[in-house]
Amino acid sequence: MMVRTRVAPSPTGDPHVGTAYVALVNYLFAKQHAGRFLLRIEDTDRVRSSDAAETVILDALRWLGLQWDEGPDVGGPHGPYRQSERLQRYAVAANELLSDGHAFKCFCSVERLEELRQEQRKLGIPPGYDGRCLTLTAGEAAQAEAAGTPFVVRMKVPREGSVVIDDLLRGEISFEWRTVDMQVLVKSDGWPTYHLANVVDDHDMEITHVMRGEEWISSAPKHKLLYEYFGWTMPKLAHLPLLRNPDRSKLSKRKNPTSILFYRRMGYLPEALINFLGLLAVTPVEGEEMMDLATMVARFGLEHISLGGPIFDVAKLDWLNGRYLRERLDLAAFEQRVRDWALNESYLGAIAPLAQPRIERLSDLGPLLSFFFAGRIDVDVAQLRSAKLDDASLRKAFVLALAEVDALALWEAGAINAAFGRIADVLGKRLREVVRPFYVAIAGRAQSVPLFDSMQILGRDLVRERLRNALDLLGGATAKEQEAWRRELSANGAAARQAAEVQA
Ligand code: GLU
Repeated sequence: MMVRTRVAPSPTGDPHVGTAYVALVNYLFAKQHAGRFLLRIEDTDRVRSSDAAETVILDALRWLGLQWDEGPDVGGPHGPYRQSERLQRYAVAANELLSDGHAFKCFCSVERLEELRQEQRKLGIPPGYDGRCLTLTAGEAAQAEAAGTPFVVRMKVPREGSVVIDDLLRGEISFEWRTVDMQVLVKSDGWPTYHLANVVDDHDMEITHVMRGEEWISSAPKHKLLYEYFGWTMPKLAHLPLLRNPDRSKLSKRKNPTSILFYRRMGYLPEALINFLGLLAVTPVEGEEMMDLATMVARFGLEHISLGGPIFDVAKLDWLNGRYLRERLDLAAFEQRVRDWALNESYLGAIAPLAQPRIERLSDLGPLLSFFFAGRIDVDVAQLRSAKLDDASLRKAFVLALAEVDALALWEAGAINAAFGRIADVLGKRLREVVRPFYVAIAGRAQSVPLFDSMQILGRDLVRERLRNALDLLGGATAKEQEAWRRELSANGAAARQAAEVQA
């Protein structure tokens, strides 16, 4: 049997280094067994998925040198490889489950489900569907449907006994059925949930090994049952540990950069980054840390993956990247990398119009623009402090800015400007009273080229990092402060929207 693995990202945000790690493990395993590695786009979350995010994910994984044998862009015999193009298939599968009595239509309203949740919380029992619509007769269900009552399709789940999941990394894991929810498989708009689409696709695409993040372990019992209901063989499972910081905390966007784009923007070489991720999945050989993909394929072994959590140690990445820069590039290749990184026409083309009106000599360019060619920058905390904002407002301004950086759908100067308008509103200040410390945080000085254009050009990741750095220098913000301030921002946004509607 040919080994077939896949990575199945959801295009809902920046490409995460964890996705690259999962992709790499799947790639190495497939190649080691002379198998095939697939990429499938799981875009059943219609609200959060976007084409732009998909493009960025594919680009980022390709930049790292990972090549998939089948996928939405390269095609293959089991396409389409994008779930939004396979809806027909899921409808057929759901109908099969319904007619075999393995699933049922649930007409419960959102309000009823909310009440149920509240009640379960009060009683201290795990939340989950109580099975009310299982008791409907066929006639009652048909009547509700004919009356146009919205419904979802849920899978039937035994209420007694337990199930054992076999995990290649963790051995046998047992779950009590009563802790497994009667999962929604088809939403009221007819779209499948992750669970249905994922199982159908892994079967149809002849996936033999599912290797994915450990956050999916609790879904495994549902998936196992679905395979049984369909009468299909389940692929082998391995749930990979999440990447961790050296202090063992979970890698998370709030605390440290997680986007592949950030590492690219910082000037890490793709071969160094993929090598670094590979070190978390191969037998380490002292003195032979530098490995290309082919070497990693040869040395890979699932058993090398530490369940305690692979450590994403940036100091090690720096060391490795330095070696690649010094040892693996001749001067011409090095120059080319520098050009690709930031001395290219498109980057200079974006910066030049900001600088031209503001200089007297070309030699002014160095000090004026150096922040465009840096990752993190040195900031003088005294300069961050501002006559217009007391310390609490200043910290609040940075917390709000970080919230806006994450929330903005479009990363563009006009939208960033509008976001700072909202921040000024919440602080009860004028925009120009608020922006000065942000010049310092982003450009390293209080006067520079236009702030919002600069932020657009630097990109969301570097901006987030510099804002976070400034907030730290100012003493940070407690979780409670952050929550309260972020709430103010969204309440203010809602009020502004309402006012606009009244005017309209
Ligand atoms: N779409 C899921 C994710 O984004 C994939 C989970 C799986 O591999 O089954 O992580």
